[in-house]
Amino acid sequence: MPTNPLAAQRVAVIGGGPAGLMAAEVLTQGGVQVDVYDAMPSLGRKFLMAGKGGMNITHSENFADFLGRYGARRAQLQPILQAFDPDALRAWIHALGIETFVGSSGRVFPRDMKAAPLLRAWLHRLRASGVRLHVRQRWLGWDEQSALRFQTPQGEQCVQADAAVLALGGGSWSRLGSDGAWVPLLAARGVSVAPLQAANCGFDVAWSAHFSARFAGQPLKSVVLSFTDRNGVVQHKPGECMITAHGVEGSAIYAWSAMLRDAIAASGSALLHLDLLPGKSLQQVIAEISRPRGSRSQSSHLQSRLGLKGVKAGLLRELVPAQDYAQPTRLGAAIKALPLRLLAPRPLEEAISSAGGVTFEALDARLMLRDLPGVFCAGEMLDWEAPTGGYLLTACFASGRAAGNGALHWLQAKQVECPP
Ligand SMILES: Cc1cc2nc3c(=O)[nH]c(=O)nc-3n(C[C@H](O)[C@H](O)[C@H](O)COP(=O)(O)OP(=O)(O)OC[C@H]3O[C@@H](n4cnc5c(N)ncnc54)[C@H](O)[C@@H]3O)c2cc1C
Repeated sequence: MPTNPLAAQRVAVIGGGPAGLMAAEVLTQGGVQVDVYDAMPSLGRKFLMAGKGGMNITHSENFADFLGRYGARRAQLQPILQAFDPDALRAWIHALGIETFVGSSGRVFPRDMKAAPLLRAWLHRLRASGVRLHVRQRWLGWDEQSALRFQTPQGEQCVQADAAVLALGGGSWSRLGSDGAWVPLLAARGVSVAPLQAANCGFDVAWSAHFSARFAGQPLKSVVLSFTDRNGVVQHKPGECMITAHGVEGSAIYAWSAMLRDAIAASGSALLHLDLLPGKSLQQVIAEISRPRGSRSQSSHLQSRLGLKGVKAGLLRELVPAQDYAQPTRLGAAIKALPLRLLAPRPLEEAISSAGGVTFEALDARLMLRDLPGVFCAGEMLDWEAPTGGYLLTACFASGRAAGNGALHWLQAKQVECPP
């Protein structure tokens, strides 16, 4: 029987999240020896956390729209996502014995909405195919002989590998393992890394102590957000957000977090407008407020005429100057376009994901670092961002696959150049 020429090659995959495990799978299928190292006591902790509130693993919209969600990195991610698109990802999940379904928003979920059964089945399959999984192994960089250095419970150990795939994640929720500590290790080797920043994050608003204490944790439902982007185009987004002690968060805000974060970086703040009554025109709103209110307070008048109460009424009291609150035309205008100034993104630690990371300019088409031949990168540690909706995990899986294939092709080419 012909032996696989790569069978003696050993590849270290560092980071056991979705990107690293996918790289490990491709590599073991290619016949190389694969060792996965992770700093944490168990693998895939952020993946499991993503499954907590209902795991949204990919999206069913058409591929052009899907690609558009990756914004400025669309072109770089296109070949990677084309090679492992949302349909291929679903087929891969089905092959693990996990059914998926498309929700009403087009989002794709595992049948039971959980990550744990998928991860369990996947780790079982990886182990059965010969992948060796090592936990509590914190990668510390390279020694003078270019061996990989690990901090382990037995002290520091060095590992020689023929190639390495780094899939170390971004910098949010560091207690789940991805803490961004890799950034200075790569930067010291001359790798260009864009600073990690919060993505899919909440924003600070200067709430009064009274408003924050009263309304933090309350959802703001059925509003339309508006924002004028840097090209002067007014964007509208119907949705829901949440008032927090520090500001606002939630799906509608996350979807715009890149644009809002960049606006704050450019001009110190970002001004959103909220339509609190999207079902009514400005004229209707003003006409209702202008009706005689007798001895009723303005807030009971708003509740009885327009159904404005709770957090929406609280927002008006918080943000509308007293002289405007008493004046129907100005109050009506505020109800239809309430200015909300966002002052700063919430810290990276709290964000769902990170922007920034290893730049695509530092990588070749195989996702190999140009300055460190044989070292490949994948997943959230690359410099791309996307909204929630399954786009994050899809690109992590797809780039893990691309890096694994890239490493295989590089090892094959090396064998042709220098046969053993
Ligand atoms: C609360 C929450 C909910 C989410 N929900 C969704 C969702 O529904 N849909 C979606 O698409 N995405 C979601 N995400 C995002 C998604 O989970 C991540 O984008 C994805 O897990 C990133 O995969 P990764 O493999 O690149 O990195 P990670 O999953 O972060 O894995 C990186 C691994 O590298 C290890 N590591 C890091 N540094 C070292 C080191 N020096 N040495 C050794 N090991 C190291 C870490 O321990 C970790 O196991 C969510 C994220 C959060 C926080």
